[in-house]
Amino acid sequence: MKNNNNLLEVPNINSRDAQIKNLIYKVDDNLFNSHYKLTSKSEYLCVCSGGTTSSCAKNGLITLDLRKEYNQIHLDKEKNLIKIGGGVIMKDLMNYLEKHNKTFPTGLSKLPGAGYILTGGISPMSRRYGLAIDNIASIKGYLGNGTFISLEQKSLNSAQKLIWEGLKGAAPFLAIITEISLKTFQSHPIQIIEGFVDENELSKIINMAEGFPENLSLQWIYAEKIYIYIFAEIKNDLDNKITKIYLKKLENFTSLKIKKYENYNQINFFPKELDLFELNKNNHSEVISLLGGDLKDDIQIFIKCMNEIIQDKPNNSCYVASQQLGGKTKDFEYKSSFFIHRASTWKPWIYASWKKDDLKEKEIVLKWMNESWGKLKIFFPKIHLAQIHNHLNSHEEEVDLSFGKRLSELKTLKNICDPESILPPL
Ligand SMILES: Cc1cc2nc3c(=O)[nH]c(=O)nc-3n(C[C@H](O)[C@H](O)[C@H](O)COP(=O)(O)OP(=O)(O)OC[C@H]3O[C@@H](n4cnc5c(N)ncnc54)[C@H](O)[C@@H]3O)c2cc1C
Repeated sequence: MKNNNNLLEVPNINSRDAQIKNLIYKVDDNLFNSHYKLTSKSEYLCVCSGGTTSSCAKNGLITLDLRKEYNQIHLDKEKNLIKIGGGVIMKDLMNYLEKHNKTFPTGLSKLPGAGYILTGGISPMSRRYGLAIDNIASIKGYLGNGTFISLEQKSLNSAQKLIWEGLKGAAPFLAIITEISLKTFQSHPIQIIEGFVDENELSKIINMAEGFPENLSLQWIYAEKIYIYIFAEIKNDLDNKITKIYLKKLENFTSLKIKKYENYNQINFFPKELDLFELNKNNHSEVISLLGGDLKDDIQIFIKCMNEIIQDKPNNSCYVASQQLGGKTKDFEYKSSFFIHRASTWKPWIYASWKKDDLKEKEIVLKWMNESWGKLKIFFPKIHLAQIHNHLNSHEEEVDLSFGKRLSELKTLKNICDPESILPPL
């Protein structure tokens, strides 16, 4: 932690530079009574877990940093459940599981914290194991109204059921989560087929991926050049056999290389050469995440659209990338959580970045982000609310496109769980 109490040492640079009002570490009664009483209607409490988003610290607002007091990890080997504090980052979870030859469907980066899990959690392994929220067994925390909650998937009463569903996908608006219990999985060997491809190759690979079995998934990054990762878990002979068939098909893509790993925990996605997740201290950024189904016959038009978007990017560090869902993530009923877009196959995200003190460039870059979103909407009409943008004009539309038919239920839940809106507004 920096000495200056008004700054927060976090990976996200916007949040790191924010001049916060106060920093607190523990959830206690003071949080919900007059001690930290918010002074205006537009004030609310920012919650920080991994600190990878622009919403964990804001100018003039209080941040509750969960990393110090809620960082416990405990594995119950008999039940195959791991309990983690609300301030645990995925790197620590994976390192812990590694020692026990187990794994969890974490995302493409080890930096995010519990926010990854609570907002859905899309992993290269999700096609086989589901989203992170699909693997939550119990949750502890405090609703925005100060009520302590301890919910177990197996013993929910009817009053708790809606809150349970709400916490899976929309927790940031309803509660401060201090403990999550997660199902864990036996580790298996992984093969990654990766490398730079051209547009024509990308379209062929997307086409192939839309027919992938559930042990395979595709992730691509479209920056100056295009880089792809095909992820394959080899759990048994059948996986091995199927993966070999795809490897044969991929032999024609001469720039691709195969890398083998003992297990998922050991992989670091995205090569340094792309300079993507190097959190450049001189830049600020925003990310918007979209969701949509198979591209099928639209792959060529989509690639043309992507080409235009990348040609127009106003700052070198802007890019668009995507990960693949489907398989198990489509099996869950949309009512099981507030991640309702279960029919989705692709989650592209637009990364918009600008020189941090250049307000003119910020405006241009955010315009590019919104225009690119507009262009991609025909392919990916929904939103994955992995980043909260209540400081941007797009917030209302993002909330609407995330929660769709369940938005009115969520608003009711917000009124019950957080009536004074001490947590981020919907
Ligand atoms: C490099 C990188 C790679 C990523 N890859 C993936 C990916 O593969 N799949 C995917 O689905 N997402 C991915 N994400 C998105 C990421 O999972 C989300 O943005 C997530 O919300 C970040 O959580 P955090 O705890 O790190 O962030 P924070 O900024 O600490 O938290 C984000 C918000 O979540 C809420 N929150 C966090 N913890 C709690 C808690 N314990 N209780 C209540 N509210 C809480 C708060 O409102 C907070 O403002 C990636 C992000 C980055 C930066």
